[in-house]
Amino acid sequence: MRKVEKLLKSLNDYIAKSEEDDEAKLSDVVPDFPGLDKVPKYVEDYEKKVAKLLRKQRKHFLYGVKSFVSKDITLEALLIFITSNLFASDEFAEEMEEETSEFLQLTVAGLAAIIMEEIDKDVPFEVLSNRSITWIEEWSAELGKLMKLNSHEALEKELKKVIENGGSIQDAELVIKDLPQFDRARARTTAITEILTASSVAQVESYRQSPAVEKKRWRHSGSKKNNPREAHVDLDREEIPVDKMFDVNGHAADHPRDTSLPAGERVNCHCVLSPVVNKDILVLSKEEKEEMRKQALKD
Ligand SMILES: [Zn+2]
Repeated sequence: MRKVEKLLKSLNDYIAKSEEDDEAKLSDVVPDFPGLDKVPKYVEDYEKKVAKLLRKQRKHFLYGVKSFVSKDITLEALLIFITSNLFASDEFAEEMEEETSEFLQLTVAGLAAIIMEEIDKDVPFEVLSNRSITWIEEWSAELGKLMKLNSHEALEKELKKVIENGGSIQDAELVIKDLPQFDRARARTTAITEILTASSVAQVESYRQSPAVEKKRWRHSGSKKNNPREAHVDLDREEIPVDKMFDVNGHAADHPRDTSLPAGERVNCHCVLSPVVNKDILVLSKEEKEEMRKQALKD
């Protein structure tokens, strides 16, 4: 199991490095783990795609405003145009859903393959369970919607300020140009958060499909940057059956950064899981274990 731990540590080191050095290309902070080769590339590609979608979203509003102001209109009317017409025609959520779904499929499957290989070579990863496929579809759609809503709310708030301060149409355009929600930094934070989430989902997927794994163990870990959450520290070394939920500060969670947790329990959480293996099952025949995996996939 040493290698699974090493993989997770490498992944955490990689995230920590990319957070410390905002300028570094994500692919340049590659951890020392052979099986992880492709993952940093996936993360970097995803970051680029998200950044592109955010730029496109910014353009959608800038061009929309330009086409409207030529009709010589008040700032109040412009705000109504933006929050009704331009919000409605914003395609960000759907495109973000598509990119996220592709990214999560690649990374969850890629990480599960590495983790399952290390747990038990007799039962290599083949396919994602329906449970994980469903999670990827649902979470991708939700993330797209959440990010879009967040941009719209921030934009509306800033534009209202311009009106209150008696600003001009040009001020409104500047607000759109400078809105942090459209920045590259947001694409980076999103890519980092999602690869951490993907790694948790890949672990639980691997444990469920590996007959020898009986329990999952929560491990608290935090970087220097973030204040440890008491509830997460208390969970350190807690072991529960793979299909049970952890109690995170009163919220049920399948794993650290479970997307069903409130943002306050997810953001900047660097906790990890490790598998608790039953050695008696590990020595069963390949056929017996394969049969157990098939049953687990069915369930
Ligand atoms: Zn945590």
